[in-house]
Amino acid sequence: MLGLMQDRPLLISQLLEYAAIYHPKVEIVSKTVEGPTHRSNYAEIHRRAKRAAKALAALGIVMGDRVATLAWNGYRHFELYYGISGMGAVCHTVNPRLFPEQIAYIANHAEDKALFFDLTFLPLVEKLAPQLKSVRHWVLMTDRAHMPKASSVPNLLCYEELLAAQSEDYAWPSFDERTASSLCYTSGTTGNPKGVLYAHRSTVLHSFAVCMGDTLALSSRDSVLVVVPMFHANAWGLVYAAPMCGAKLVLPGPHLDGPSVHAQIEAERCTMSAGVPTVWLALLNYLTETGKRIDTVKKFVIGGSAAPRSMIETFQEKYGAYVIHAWGMTEMSPLGTTGMLKPAMYDWPVQKRLDIQQKQGRAVYGVDMKIVDDEGREMPRDGKAFGRLLVRGPWITSGYFKGEGGSVIDREDWFDTGDVATLDADGFMQITDRSKDVIKSGGEWISSIDLENAAVGHADVKEACVIGIKHPKWQERPLLLVIRRPGTALDRAGMLKYLEGKVAKWWMPDDVVFVDELPHTATGKLLKAKLREEYADYKLPTA
Ligand code: ADP
Repeated sequence: MLGLMQDRPLLISQLLEYAAIYHPKVEIVSKTVEGPTHRSNYAEIHRRAKRAAKALAALGIVMGDRVATLAWNGYRHFELYYGISGMGAVCHTVNPRLFPEQIAYIANHAEDKALFFDLTFLPLVEKLAPQLKSVRHWVLMTDRAHMPKASSVPNLLCYEELLAAQSEDYAWPSFDERTASSLCYTSGTTGNPKGVLYAHRSTVLHSFAVCMGDTLALSSRDSVLVVVPMFHANAWGLVYAAPMCGAKLVLPGPHLDGPSVHAQIEAERCTMSAGVPTVWLALLNYLTETGKRIDTVKKFVIGGSAAPRSMIETFQEKYGAYVIHAWGMTEMSPLGTTGMLKPAMYDWPVQKRLDIQQKQGRAVYGVDMKIVDDEGREMPRDGKAFGRLLVRGPWITSGYFKGEGGSVIDREDWFDTGDVATLDADGFMQITDRSKDVIKSGGEWISSIDLENAAVGHADVKEACVIGIKHPKWQERPLLLVIRRPGTALDRAGMLKYLEGKVAKWWMPDDVVFVDELPHTATGKLLKAKLREEYADYKLPTA
C-alpha cells in the first residue's frame, strides 16, 4: 500500500522562491570583478533569476541544454545557477583553473550551447572560442559600460542588456525532480575529466543535509563567506542551502588573499566560512602578521584536502572559531562527512579532541559508508583497519555523463571513492590514502600520506611525496621524493634517521631522492601517476 502524501517534485527554483518570500531582505553581497562591492537581496535575485530564465529561452535554450559558466563567486553567477536550472536547462560550471585544453575538451564534451563568463575570462574565452564547437551564444557577465570596444568573440552579448530586455513575469516550470540540473567535471588526475550530472532532487536533498545541525548547521542567523568556488562542486552546496534557510551570502569574487578575506569577514560580520586549507593558511598568516582578529566567525568548514592539526588548533584555541573538518567529492554533490563532535567530546582535553577533529568526520545522514578490502569484504570499524571507502546515497553519482568510464557502481549501488580510510566506533572516518597511491607491500598496505606527513615534519623539508616502486619480493616498496628548503643540506641518511620511530619499521622508505620540483594537478594535488611513470624503472638499493 502506498502512502497518501503529495508527490510534489523537489526543484531548485523552489529554494530561491522560498527565500524571496520568507527572507526577501536578506543580503547577497558580492565583490565584483569590475571593482565595487555589490549589494542585493533574495527578492531581487529571485526577480533577476526569472529574467535570466526568460533570456535563455529567448536565445533558444530548451530543457536539457547545457549552459556553461566561467565565473567567480558573485551575484550574477548565483542568479544564473537558478535561472539556468530553474528553466530546465543544465548549469555547467567550468573550472577556470583547468588547463585551456581541458576547458575546451569539457565544453565540447558537454556540448555547451551558451557560455556565460566574467570579465576576467575574456582573454581566455577569446583564445578558446574557435575550439568550442557547440557554443552558439557568448555572454559577458557585465553591464554595457564594461563591455569591450572590440572582441574576437563572435556576437558577444552583454548580460545586463539580456536581462533588461525581459520582464519578471515568469512562473517557474514544474517537471520531474530527477531532471538534470547541473554538471561539473572532476579535474581528473588520470585520463580526461569526467562529468558529474546532478539532478534537482539530489540537489534539494543535499541542501537539507547541509542545513542539519550535525552537518554544517547553516541557518538564517548565519552570514556566510563562500570562499569555496562555485565552479568546483557547487561551492559545497552552500549556494543552494543558503536560500533554503535564509542565510546571508557573501560572495568574494577572485579576492581570496588574507587581507581581502579578513576585510570581508569584518565588513559583513560573517559567522561562517568554508574553503580549502590553502586559503585558511593565507588568512592565518595575515592575522599573525597584523594581530587582527575575526571575532564574528563561529565556524570554519575546511575540506578538499586534509585540514592540518595546527590549523584546527589555532582557529579554535586562538580565535574561538570552531572547525568543521569536512570530506566529500564532486561525485557526492559533494558532502560525505563532517566533523561535528559528539556531546561528550567537547569536554575532552584539547589534544584528545584534536585527534578526533583531524579525522574527516562522521557520515551525514543520507550517505551510507563502509570500508572493504581488495576482495570486497567489509572491514571492522575499529579506527585501525583501513580499506577502500565505498559510499552510496541519493546525492551520489550513479555514472558519469555520457557513460564515460563505464559502470562506476556495483549491484548494491556502492560507489568506490578511490579513497582509503579507517572508520572508528563513533563513526568518524579518517582518510589514510588514495587507493591508487597506497603502497602494497607483502600483502599489507602502507599509507603514502602518513609517510609524507612524517617527512614534512622535518624542518629542512619543503615538500614530500611517496610513491610505490615495484619490488621482486614485496610487490611494492615506498620511495620518498623530497624538495629541500633552500639553503639546507639534508641527505638520505639524515632523512631516514629522522623517520625512525615516527613510522612502523616496515613502512620505512627504501630510498630517498632529492628533487627540485614535484608535478601538481590544476587543483594543486600531487600528480603521483606521472611520478610513478617517471620512476617506473627506478632501482631501489635494497631490491
Ligand atoms: P578534484 O579536486 O580532483 O576535482 P574533488 O574535489 O571531488 O576532486 O576531490 C575529492 C577528493 O579530495 C576526495 O576523494 C579526497 O581524496 C580529497 N579530499 C576531500 N576532502 C578531504 C579532506 N577533508 N581530507 C583529505 N582529503 C580530502
